[in-house]
Amino acid sequence: MGVKTFGVIGAGQMGNGIAQVAAYPGGLNVIINDIADQFVDRGMETISKNLDRLVAKEKITADAKAEILGRIKKSTSLEDMKDADFVVEAAVEREDLKLNIFRKLDEVCAPDVVLATNTSSIPITRIAGATKRPEKVIGMHFMNPVPVMRLVEIIRGLATSQATYDLTESLSKQFGKVPVECNDFPGFISNRILMPMINEAVYTLFEGVATPKAIDDIMMLGMNHPMGPLALADLIGLDTCYAIMNVLHQGFGDSKYRPCPLLKKYVDAGYLGRKVGRGFYDYSK
Ligand code: NAD
Repeated sequence: MGVKTFGVIGAGQMGNGIAQVAAYPGGLNVIINDIADQFVDRGMETISKNLDRLVAKEKITADAKAEILGRIKKSTSLEDMKDADFVVEAAVEREDLKLNIFRKLDEVCAPDVVLATNTSSIPITRIAGATKRPEKVIGMHFMNPVPVMRLVEIIRGLATSQATYDLTESLSKQFGKVPVECNDFPGFISNRILMPMINEAVYTLFEGVATPKAIDDIMMLGMNHPMGPLALADLIGLDTCYAIMNVLHQGFGDSKYRPCPLLKKYVDAGYLGRKVGRGFYDYSK
């Protein structure tokens, strides 16, 4: 099956990045969907600004930018995915919501269409179980920010077919990414290793060991991390970090994955990180 039209569910920080790389360098027509116009428009604005940077660096021309944007169609109805040849879901990290989206996509999309999810941690096998095509469901886990980060972690659910894997791998390469394969287990590889480190950094703050800046400086200067764990948590979104810790905690049934109470408190307060201007750091200025 040749993929010409690529559907993206969710136009937030991950969804708009995925839509961008599918359009350029992927060269596909894209349908970008969210629950309301304001979210789709905000996603399109981000894509437009990112492409402006490529124009300024003379990587693409202004005409090419207009052509790329012209290939991205806005949508606020999941029904529009009937025209997609491959769909990746990047809505918020909530299992009930994702299961509903996959039930609906299974009804709307042609039977041969692969339904991928960008989930950070929710089991692919469980999401696949909400559809009548589990062999065509797969994890296609992009990293943030999508246009910059090279990895796509591709996760096989229990029933994922080799043809589904091969197509997902070849699209990842078409989008300029490096695919790496793993099996379905809580947090896959990336977040099973990354998120406990972030959670431990939050505990360090919670226990008054150091300031956020000192914690981040120690990890950057001492471990050569390009970004400290608390700044990275702010970039990922504290709601997403908290959701992933809960999946690890429940999935492994091991208290070592318990989310730090301070992480929960920040989420309760709406301090979700960069996307709202406040997390462990203040981005309002
Ligand atoms: P976000 O909050 O920036 O965006 C989520 C978007 O989903 C919002 O625009 C929201 O309106 C939309 N949405 C909610 N319900 C929807 C529905 N029913 N249909 C369509 N759209 C809906 O979140 P994000 O950071 O882009 O994360 C999205 C997904 O990507 C999550 O599953 C997350 O775990 C995963 N992910 C996030 C990161 C990261 O660093 N933030 C990295 C890899 C994967």
